[in-house]
Amino acid sequence: MADDASTYTFKAETRQLLNILIHSLYKEREIFLRELISNASDALNRLRFEALTEQNILEPDAELCIRLSVDEKKKLVTIEDTGIGMTKDELVKNLGTIAQSGAKAFLEAAKDAPDQAINVIGQFGVGFYSIFMVAEWVRVTSRSFNPRAKAASWYATGDDSFQVEPAEKANRGTRIEIKLKKDAAEFADESRLRTIVKRHSDFIGFPIYIGDSSEQVNQQAALWRTPRKDVSEEQYNEFYRQLTLEFEEPQSHLHITTDAPVRVYAILYIPAKAERGMFSLRKEDGLKLYSRNILIDEYSKDLLPEHFRFIQGVVDSEDLPLNVSRETFQASNMIARLKKVLTGQVMGALRKMAKKDREAYARFWKEFGPFIKQGVATDPAEREHLYELLRFKTSLQPDDWSSLDEYIERMQAGRKEIYYIVGDDDRSVLLSPHLDQFKSKGIEVLLLTHPVDPFLLMGLQKYRDFDLKNAAQAELEPDAKEDKADQAEAVTEGALENLINRFKEQLGDKITAVRETRRLSSSVARLVDPEGSLAPEMQRVYKYLDRETAIPKKILELNPSHAIIRGLADLEAGSDLEKAIIDQIYESALLLDGIHPDPSSMTPRIQQLMEAALKK
Ligand code: ADP
Ligand code: MG
Repeated sequence: MADDASTYTFKAETRQLLNILIHSLYKEREIFLRELISNASDALNRLRFEALTEQNILEPDAELCIRLSVDEKKKLVTIEDTGIGMTKDELVKNLGTIAQSGAKAFLEAAKDAPDQAINVIGQFGVGFYSIFMVAEWVRVTSRSFNPRAKAASWYATGDDSFQVEPAEKANRGTRIEIKLKKDAAEFADESRLRTIVKRHSDFIGFPIYIGDSSEQVNQQAALWRTPRKDVSEEQYNEFYRQLTLEFEEPQSHLHITTDAPVRVYAILYIPAKAERGMFSLRKEDGLKLYSRNILIDEYSKDLLPEHFRFIQGVVDSEDLPLNVSRETFQASNMIARLKKVLTGQVMGALRKMAKKDREAYARFWKEFGPFIKQGVATDPAEREHLYELLRFKTSLQPDDWSSLDEYIERMQAGRKEIYYIVGDDDRSVLLSPHLDQFKSKGIEVLLLTHPVDPFLLMGLQKYRDFDLKNAAQAELEPDAKEDKADQAEAVTEGALENLINRFKEQLGDKITAVRETRRLSSSVARLVDPEGSLAPEMQRVYKYLDRETAIPKKILELNPSHAIIRGLADLEAGSDLEKAIIDQIYESALLLDGIHPDPSSMTPRIQQLMEAALKK
């Protein structure tokens, strides 16, 4: 050991991590190469970024590339890059200490699913250490881009310590030599390395060479700059896989190349699922932003509106000033223009999908509809553009998604309103007494049963010339003919008055009033809001925000033509059975509105009613 060599001890967590990797039985050990290439690519990107502002760089003209080589006899694999390099101190810091959180998170994940954790080791910020799945020892020799810095090397065998010492290296960048363990000798093979590069690192943005060859192994020509006609479906999917490490193929992709008003190349994906996979490579929302091949932002959130944040992909624009990270006016102005272009393209693609492929759009809507609804609720500038993307189940087409335009097309002539009903789920909402008058008249009602729907309504009060109206608050003109026929079967006026009084007596201050209605047909009763109370959807918003949980007091409306009401009029006033029926009518109405605080409390009464029925 040279005089100024120093030995350092790994921290406890790092030792644990190394222990797991050294003894891992994980089959895909080849991913160590993916991790090292990814680090080399990071180092090259950082060098390129430095070079924008820093004049004084070692070997400014050296090609930015990655080179792999093997020594089959000695069982050595070497990976070398011309990136930013590391000084002695940086070697100690970057390869000796792991951000506590990264090591902890990895150990935590490895406890439950070691193979999965290892597969995505890079996302814990400890990718370098995957080398110890295959290495007997590792030597990293590096020379910083800073011309004054001296070369240094780092050496470890995977036990408790590592050594750092001065080294000879004329060229800028980092060389990593790996002496393979006996059972990993298979990797000392050029053609094996070639296969691994193609499989995991094909889209790395710098040339990768193997051996002395000057033939590039990876595609590198950025896929987003390749003309659309030259890119196969498989390449799009493969690029997505390498970008995200998601298992499921994306729902669709959008390849954008435009010259005006800004020059931009982009590939955007709609993922299969709204939730990122647990082991996705993408840790945050946002698009990867490049300018002239320089990675400017790994997770740019400024390129699409919030409601399109589920979109993944890469954006590359030559028009971006390279000091974009400094948030200059010019940069933010440019970003705003990019955002406009990208948003327009995404909108166009969705519109086209909706028109051309109903099934694909239904799949999109099922997964990402809530994002669009959220956009309508919270983005006043965008909301009107989003209306046409909305889809709804309806009372007449409960199994299909309809657009607002389709609803209007089916609408009876002369109607001015779009009706909706809010509730907890489609099935119970379809039983709602509020729908009686709509059913008998054949009027369609939108079913709004997603938790975000009440918020959606705050941003959707009118569409084209049609106001949106809550079915529970709508008073449709009763049909004259129908009305007469019903009245023939209704209880007499005197009996009805008695009944209404009985309901008031029995329900007391649970309700504000009891009255008759002609707007029910198959339902016995319904609850309506007194004039001036909060709209039902707003009641839900408050419930959701947990502001108010008490049952709001409502008016109970009775259907005088219903068999139960007629029968009730014949029952002895004040009998146990009559009381139970009145209570049950009220609580059933609560239940159908989705506001019964404790449905199971009805069981004893239902039992009482069954016993009474059986006695007859
Ligand atoms: P991550 O890449 O997530 O930071 P790694 O464990 O893969 O975590 O790498 C640790 C650190 O080591 C990197 O952040 C970087 O600073 C340094 N490093 C690794 N490889 C290189 C390289 N080829 N050139 C320069 N620095 C490197
Ligand atoms: Mg890494």
